[in-house]
Amino acid sequence: MSSLPTVQFGSCQVLERDGKTYFVWPLSDETKAKIRNLLEAPDLKFGFSNTLEEVPPFFCHECGAEITFFDQVRVGISGGSHSSERLIQALQEKVLVGTGAVHHVTCENGHGQVIPMGWASNFGWTYD
Ligand SMILES: [Zn+2]
Repeated sequence: MSSLPTVQFGSCQVLERDGKTYFVWPLSDETKAKIRNLLEAPDLKFGFSNTLEEVPPFFCHECGAEITFFDQVRVGISGGSHSSERLIQALQEKVLVGTGAVHHVTCENGHGQVIPMGWASNFGWTYD
């Protein structure tokens, strides 16, 4: 019998909108820089400063790396489901509500995460 993975969560702000509860993931300058680097878009200006997610921020159960919006973008790109042109465009929008599929995100060290992340149901929403 293998034991179940234990996931550590970070604290964050919580927002209720239209009867649903969302967890606010701030988009740090470091995360923004990594995304600009990944998309080869050094001048990219983000239209939002946080994303609304269905789970609190969490850490990789294997190595402890924090899962960030960068990981969602990275997985979206590498899975081929989002072109970088489309992503660059999307990241400049102020409000985004999409219909994308759930992605299985990996941490920066390549560990698959046990919590699937909805890519688009909550991608890039802002509240301020
Ligand atoms: Zn990991």
